[in-house]
Amino acid sequence: MVPFIDLTRQYKEIENEILSATKRVFERGRFVLGQEVSAFEDEFACYCGVRFGVGVNSGTDALYLALKAAGIGKGDEVITVANSFIASALAVSFTGAKPLFVDIDPKTYNMDPNALESFLKRRKRKTIKAILPVHLYGLPADMDGIMDIANRYDLTIIEDACQAHGAEYKRKKVGSFGAMGCFSFYPTKNLGGSGDGGMVITDDKKLYEKLRLFRCYGEKKKYEHILKGGNSRLDEIQAALLRVKLRYLDQWNEQRRRKASIYKKKLEGSGVVCPVEKKGSHHVYHFFVIRSKRRNGLQVFLKGKGIDTLIHYPIPIHLQKAYKDLGYQRGEFPVTERFSKQVLSLPFFPELTESEMDEVATQIKTFTEGDVIYKP
Ligand SMILES: *Cc1c(COP(=O)(O)O)cnc(C)c1O
Repeated sequence: MVPFIDLTRQYKEIENEILSATKRVFERGRFVLGQEVSAFEDEFACYCGVRFGVGVNSGTDALYLALKAAGIGKGDEVITVANSFIASALAVSFTGAKPLFVDIDPKTYNMDPNALESFLKRRKRKTIKAILPVHLYGLPADMDGIMDIANRYDLTIIEDACQAHGAEYKRKKVGSFGAMGCFSFYPTKNLGGSGDGGMVITDDKKLYEKLRLFRCYGEKKKYEHILKGGNSRLDEIQAALLRVKLRYLDQWNEQRRRKASIYKKKLEGSGVVCPVEKKGSHHVYHFFVIRSKRRNGLQVFLKGKGIDTLIHYPIPIHLQKAYKDLGYQRGEFPVTERFSKQVLSLPFFPELTESEMDEVATQIKTFTEGDVIYKP
């Protein structure tokens, strides 16, 4: 039996610290927007190399509030990718704006700057306001290419870094490139709490102040509301736990990187394609995603051997029922659509053991033996 992820192993390692952080919050008796949240905001922003952080209740709300703070709303359009978790697009929809998609680079699985450029050339529209690149699976998107285009077309960048805590592009942390960077602290993320949570980071004081208003009823002073904000707060217990875990993030990411290279070695000679690390990109392997032409069969086979896998993601966003209204057709984004039929995420987390990886690799090789390795 190899689980896809086992969070109890990590808990056991840091049990005492987790319990004492929880106790500290209970003893203080303050549960919402207190000193743990502000300390964690400072610590995480500092970790990412920016000045400000605003703790929120989820990654989805981090994206939504960042878009709102950038002034995006009804009548506007935001370009992102269809090869992502649906929240990347939903956040755009919640503002009243419309998500638009471009295809991905077959090497990185992330937004393809060439596709972005040719899309903008073809459809120069004043309604397009922002680009929302996703650092999928923990690998940074091509930020040089995307930022160059954003500058030339005068578009705001808001990064979806929900799968890439600690990832770096040319030695700079993801989330710190755009006007704002958005993170999720959902339990299974590289930095995950014990419930929902998220953060927006920024270097811009004005955006920081806006984000704080949007997160908490538009409240400037107690019971003085200067705009219509909602309730998207991060709570104290989550912040206290995340502060403990932040101290381990680099170590856990290193374990992920080491394990990814072990997987790659063990899978050499099999008929599957392994993830690549682009030069200048520090990959933090939120997922370890392989591709196989016989993906569905491989998944069933592994399941039969007690090995759990997942597919990220089986239906590209533009083909989801929820987005029927956008009118996209099958065939619109060939790489995204082909990959959705080929990708498979293997069991992966920092505490995965060598013998578990051995088991996974051996079974994959048994199934794919003789398959021709193909390139994108
Ligand atoms: C997890 C995730 C989100 C949403 O975060 P939640 O905290 O679950 O709301 C958004 N985008 C991507 C790419 C994610 O992986």
